[in-house]
Amino acid sequence: GRSYLNMAEKISGSDAALKVIEEWGVDHIYGYPGGSFDSTMNALYNQSNKLKFIQVRHEEAGALAASAEAKLTGKIAVTFGSAGPGAVHLMNGLYDARQDHVPVLAIVAQVPSTKMNADNFQAIDEEPIFDDVSVWNRTVSSAQSVPAVVDEAIRQAYKHNGVAVVTIPKDFGWAMIDDTFVSNAKNHVDPIYPAPRAESIEKAVELIKSAKAPIIYFGIGAKRAAKELQAVSEKYKMPLVSSVLAKGILEEKYPAYLGSAGRVAPKPGAEIGFATDLILWVGNDSPFSRFLFNPNAKVIQIDIDNEKIGKRHVIDVPLLADAKEALAAIAAKGEELSPTPFYNAALEDKKNWNEWQDSFKNSEEVPLRPEPIFDVLNKTASDQAVFAVDVGNVNINFERLLDIRADQKWTTSGQYATMGYGLPASIAAKIAFPHRDVYSLSGDGGFAMLMEEILTQVKYQLHVVNIVFSNETLGFIEAEQRDDTHQPLSGVDLPDTDWATTAKGMGAEGFTVRTLQEMKDAIKAAAETSKPVVIDVKLTHEMPLTTEHMFLDPAVYPQDQIDEYVAKYQAQDLKPFSYFLAQAGGEQAKSNVVEEKP
Ligand code: FAD
Repeated sequence: GRSYLNMAEKISGSDAALKVIEEWGVDHIYGYPGGSFDSTMNALYNQSNKLKFIQVRHEEAGALAASAEAKLTGKIAVTFGSAGPGAVHLMNGLYDARQDHVPVLAIVAQVPSTKMNADNFQAIDEEPIFDDVSVWNRTVSSAQSVPAVVDEAIRQAYKHNGVAVVTIPKDFGWAMIDDTFVSNAKNHVDPIYPAPRAESIEKAVELIKSAKAPIIYFGIGAKRAAKELQAVSEKYKMPLVSSVLAKGILEEKYPAYLGSAGRVAPKPGAEIGFATDLILWVGNDSPFSRFLFNPNAKVIQIDIDNEKIGKRHVIDVPLLADAKEALAAIAAKGEELSPTPFYNAALEDKKNWNEWQDSFKNSEEVPLRPEPIFDVLNKTASDQAVFAVDVGNVNINFERLLDIRADQKWTTSGQYATMGYGLPASIAAKIAFPHRDVYSLSGDGGFAMLMEEILTQVKYQLHVVNIVFSNETLGFIEAEQRDDTHQPLSGVDLPDTDWATTAKGMGAEGFTVRTLQEMKDAIKAAAETSKPVVIDVKLTHEMPLTTEHMFLDPAVYPQDQIDEYVAKYQAQDLKPFSYFLAQAGGEQAKSNVVEEKP
C-alpha cells in the first residue's frame, strides 16, 4: 500500500514486466520454468487471472507457438526460456519468427546480476547468441528499468516485424521497484504506407497493355488486396500465381488463380512463369522466384519495402507502395482488355489439372494416396477451420489439395521451413481461436520432432485433430536426392511407428487409418470427443507429381522421357500448357529455362 504522500507504490520487477505485456493486449505466454525464472514464475502466479501461463514441454515449441500465433493474429506473441539451456532451446522458434517477419517478444532469464560473468551454474553470455535472430536484444541493467525495457522491446518488435529479446537477471525480477512506469500501448498505431506515384502507375499500365502474356505474381504482402488483385486480373485479363504463403488470399475456385509457383506448386502455377512476358509482382519476396520465371519477362514490382525492390528479379517499373493502393490505381487507369489466347489457355490448363487431381479423390489404393484424405478434410472441416501445416511433402499436398475457404486460416514455417512446426502452431491456433476447429498436418518426420507437445494439448484440453502422414520417409528430401542430385537415397528412411498407440499413452485419442473408410470413421470419431486426437494415416510411399522436373511437352522433351514420367505419376490425362496455348491460337513466349538452383 501507499505509505506516504508522494511515494510511489511498489511492485516487483517481474510483476512490472508482466504488467507492460498485459497492457499490450497479450493474455497468455508460452514457456517452461527454470530456476533463473523463479521471480517471473512468481509474478505469473500472482497475475494468472490476467496472463495465462502455457506450459509447453520444450522451449522450442513455445517459441514456435509464439511465432505461429503472431502470424495468425498479426499481434505480438510472447515466449520465455530460463538461463542457459532454456534460452538456447528458444532459438529455432525465434528464427521462424525472424524469417517470416512477425513480432515476437522473448523474455530470457539470467542468473542473478551478482553471479553473472563469473562462470556460474547455467550462466552463459546470452546476448551474443540472440544477436542474429533478433531485431533488438538487450540485457536489463537495473531493476527499476525492467518495465521500460520490456515496453521498448515490444515497440521494436512491432516496428521491425521481428524478434525482440529482453534478458532479465533473476534478482531484478524479485526486487521491489517504484510502480511509476506508464506504457504507451494504447497509442500504438499501424504504419502508414506510401501511395504510388502517378507516373509509375502510367508506365505500369502501358507495359500491361503492350504485353502478350501478362501475369500477376503476388505474395502475402497482398493479403489485404484480394478485391484489387481480382479487379486488375479481370480488367487486363491476367492469370494470377502466388507465393505459397499467399494461399488463401484468393478463393481457390477463382478461375484465373493458378495456385503457387515453385516446387510445391500445382502444374499450372509452375508452367505459367515460363510462358509469360510480363509479371506484375506484388508483395512477394519468395526466395526461389528468380528460378520460376522467363528471365526475359518484364517486371513491375509493388512492395512497401524499398530493400525488396529489385531483389529477386531485374525489374522495369518499381512501385514503392501498398499493394491495395497500387493495384487499385492500376485497375482504375486503363481500358478493359479482351481475353487473349494466353489467358484462355491458362484457364483451360487449370481445369485440366483440377480434373486430373479430382480423378484420384475416391481412390481406394492402399497405402493411401493423399487426394482422398484431403477430400475428406475439404468436406468435413468447418468454414472457420485453422490448419497448422508442418514442413515437408505435407506442404506440397496441402498447397495443391486443400481448398482453403474465405474464413479458414492456415500457417506454416515459410522461409525458415523448420520441421516440427505443426504441433506448436496448432496449440497457438487453438489458444488464439478457441471456437475454431484446428488441425495439425505433419509428416512422420515433422511430427516426431516435437510430438511431446501432444502432452500440452492434453494438459490444456485443446481439441486439436493432428493428422500424421506416415510414409516412413523424409519425402521432400528423398525426392530431392532422387530427382535433383541423382544420388542413392541416403539417411531418409524412417521406422514405421504406431502413432495412435503413442498418442493414447499420452492421454489423447489415437486412430490408425489405412483405408478411405477408416479416414472417414476417424474424422467422425474425432468430432465426437473433446480430447486431442492423433490420426495416423498410412500414406503411399509414392512421391507427389514433380512439377519442377516435369516432362510433358513433346516440343521440349524426348518421347521416352515423357512416357516414363506419365507412367510414374499416372499422368495420362495431363496436357502441357503449350497444348492449351496452341488450341487457343497463341504463341509461346521466348524463354530461356534457368537450370541453376539455389
Ligand atoms: P514474405 O517473404 O513475407 O514477403 C512478403 C513481401 O510483401 C515482402 O517483400 C514485404 O515487404 C511485402 N509487403 C508486406 N506488406 C505489403 C503491403 N501492404 N504492400 C506491398 N508489399 C507488402 N514458396 C513458394 O512460393 N514456392 C515454393 O515452391 C515453396 N516451397 C516451399 C517448401 C517448403 C517445404 C516450405 C516450408 C516452404 C516453401 N515455400 C515456397 C515458402 C517460401 O519459403 C517462402 O516462405 C514464401 O515464398 C515467401 O512468401 P512471400 O514472399 O509471400 O512472403
